[in-house]
Amino acid sequence: MSVWTLTYDGFDPDQQALREALCTLGNGYFATRGAAPEARADGVNYPATYVAGLYNRLTSTVAGRAVENEDMVNLPSWLPLDFRTEGGPWFDVREVELLEHCQELDMYTGVLTRQVRWRDADGRQTRLEQRRFVHMDKPHLAGLKTTFVAENWSGTLEVRAGLDGGVTNSGVRRYQALNNRHLEVLAAEASGDEVVELQAQTNQSHVRVAEAARTRVARPGGPAPTRREVVREGDYIGHALTLDLRQGQRLTVEKIIALYTSRDRAISDCRLAARTAVQRAGGFDELLVGHAGAWRRMWNRYGISIKDSTRPQLVLQLHIFHLLQTCSPNTIDLDVGVPARGLHGEAYRGHIFWDELFIFPFLNFESPTLTRSLLAYRHRRLDEARHLAREAGHEGACYPWQSGSNGREETQQMHLNPRSGRWLPDNSRVQRHVNIAIAYNVWQHYQVTGSVEFLRFQGAKMLVEIARFFASLSSYNPALDRYEIRGVMGPDEYHDAYPGSDRPGLDNNAYTNVMTVWMLLRALEALEVLPAHYRREVVEELGLSEIELERWRDIANKMRVVFHADGVISQFEGYERLEELDWEGYRAKYGDIQRLDRILEAEGDTPNRYKVSKQADVLMLLYLLSVDELRELLGRLGYELEPEAVPRTIAYYLARTSHGSTLSGVVHAWVLARSESCGSAPTTGATGSR
Ligand code: BGC
Repeated sequence: MSVWTLTYDGFDPDQQALREALCTLGNGYFATRGAAPEARADGVNYPATYVAGLYNRLTSTVAGRAVENEDMVNLPSWLPLDFRTEGGPWFDVREVELLEHCQELDMYTGVLTRQVRWRDADGRQTRLEQRRFVHMDKPHLAGLKTTFVAENWSGTLEVRAGLDGGVTNSGVRRYQALNNRHLEVLAAEASGDEVVELQAQTNQSHVRVAEAARTRVARPGGPAPTRREVVREGDYIGHALTLDLRQGQRLTVEKIIALYTSRDRAISDCRLAARTAVQRAGGFDELLVGHAGAWRRMWNRYGISIKDSTRPQLVLQLHIFHLLQTCSPNTIDLDVGVPARGLHGEAYRGHIFWDELFIFPFLNFESPTLTRSLLAYRHRRLDEARHLAREAGHEGACYPWQSGSNGREETQQMHLNPRSGRWLPDNSRVQRHVNIAIAYNVWQHYQVTGSVEFLRFQGAKMLVEIARFFASLSSYNPALDRYEIRGVMGPDEYHDAYPGSDRPGLDNNAYTNVMTVWMLLRALEALEVLPAHYRREVVEELGLSEIELERWRDIANKMRVVFHADGVISQFEGYERLEELDWEGYRAKYGDIQRLDRILEAEGDTPNRYKVSKQADVLMLLYLLSVDELRELLGRLGYELEPEAVPRTIAYYLARTSHGSTLSGVVHAWVLARSESCGSAPTTGATGSR
C-alpha cells in the first residue's frame, strides 16, 4: 500500500460523491471536484469548481418565509470532455461494458489519474488514460490530458472539449428546494483556432468569472490531423474534434484552462487575463513539471511522517493534502477565511466558522504569512462585527458564527432536518465562542511570530474588541458575587436552549466562561507587551478607559463556573439535572447515532432534554489549555480543580458524546492522547508553548 496514493477500482454510483470530494484537486485559489470529465451533475456525478471567497446571495422561500442565503458559487465547469466512437452514443461509464475503471490520486504530485477500458455495443474496445492537475504554482491554470487507444479497431473518434456555464449549486440534497442559479453567462466565444472562452457573472455580488480553454491534439511524433468546429449549445461552448484513431496508436487530447475573476489583482479584465494565460501557457507535460515541483516543496515543508505506519500515514497525508489545497501560499492576500468543508463541496455553503482554530497550529509555524492573511480576513470585517455586537445590544465586536463575503451573520435562520423533513428555527448563531477562537488565533499568531507590528495594527484591536464584547455579555450577579454569561451556545450544538424554553442559548457554558477569563487576561497582556507609544495609540483609537480595564480584571477574578456535585465541570448551568439518554437503546434501534439531534427531533423529542453532546464542549478546555493552565485559571476564580476531577470530567463527557461533528474526534483524540501519555492528568499545552 502506497502512503501517497488513494486508489479506487471500478465505478460505484453510491460512492461517487465521496470519491469526488476526496479526489478534489485545488491550489488554495480554486478547486475542482474529482468528477469524470464527461459527467454532468445528475444526482450521481457532481463536477464543480469553486474559487476561494467567491460568494453570491439568493432569496428562496422556505416554509412560507423568504430567506436569503449566501453561497460559495459553483463556477462554470472547465472539465467537460465528451467522446464517442464512430458516431455512437456519447460515452457514459454506466452505459458501456466496462473492462477496467481505476482512479488514482497521487498526493505527492497532486495528480489525479483515471484508466478506463471499455467495449461498446459493436464490440470496439478502447482504452483511455486521463491525468489532471490544478496547478499549485500557477494558481489560475489547470490541465487535463486524455490519451485514447483503439485496441481492436480503427475509425473515427469524436471529442468535444469545452466549458459549461449551465451549472447551479445543487451539490447538497437538503438545499435542493432552494434557489440555486447564481450565474448568468455573459459571453461564450471561440478565440483563435485552439481556444474557447466563457465569461459569467454572479447575479447578486456581480463578480465576473472568465475561463478559457485551449485544446490540442497530438499523436506520437507531433500534432494529429484534426477537424475542428465550434459548438455552442445553451451555456456551453466547446470545440468538436473529429479524429482518426488507428488501432494501437495513441492519440492525445490536451486541454489547458485558465480561470480568473474580477476580484483578482494584477489584471485588467478577467476575460483578457484568462485568454492570455492559456495562449501563453506551456504544454501539459511542461506545466506538470512545475506543478509537481511546487507540491514537492510543500511536502518538504508540511510533511509529517509516522514511523512504521501505512494506513495512519496515508490518512494523515490525505488530511494535509486537502488542507493545503484549501489554503496554500496561493491563498495569501486573497481576503478569504477557511471554509469548514474546504473548496470541495457545498455543504455549509463555503462559510467560515470557528474551524480555523484547529488548523492554525499546523500552519502558524510553517506559514505565518498565510495565517496572518487569514486573520486579515477577520480584521477587515471588524466593523461588521462591531455592528453585530451593537445589534445584539452589546459593546465591542461580535464576529458572526458563520461568515462569508462581508462578514455579516450568514447562519441560516431555518435548517432542514432531512430525517423528519421539517424546517426548524436555527439558534446556532448564539455560538459566540467563534470569537474566542479568533482571539485565540490572534494570540497564537503573535506568540509564534512575536510580531509587535501585527499586534499593534491588527491583533490587539481584534482582541480588545472581542474582550469588550464578552465583558459586556457578562452580567454581575450580586447574590453570588460572580459574573455570569447567559444565553449562549457552546460548541455542542445539540443544546441550543433549555428544555421547553423559547429563549435561545444556555447559561454559564463552562467553555465560554473560562475562555472569556483567558481572553480578557490576554487582551490585558497584549496592551502591556505593546511598546508604550503603540499602547497609547491603541488605547486612544479604541477609547479604552482604566475603568473598563478594571472591570475586565474584576470579571477575570469572579467569573462563574458551574460544577456537578462530584466535581465534574458542568457543560452549562443545569446540565446535571438533564435526563440520561438510553444510549444502548438508541444504538440498537438506529445503528449510527452520530446525528442524535436529527433522530430525536424526528421522534418529536429534542436533545435539549438529555445529557448528550454532539462534540467536545467542556473538553475543549483541555484541548486548548494544559491542565496546569486550566487549574490556574480556575484557581484565580477561587475554584479548586482536584487532580481526579480531570479524568472524571473526560470520562463523563466521553460517555455522553455522539461525535456528530468530525471536530469531535480531533479534540477527543488529542485530549485522550495527552491524558494517557501523562497518566491521568494531562499537563502539556495543546499547541506547544503559550
Ligand atoms: C459543528 C461545528 C462546526 C461546523 C462546521 C458543525 O457540525 O458542530 O462545530 O464549526 O460543523 O464544520
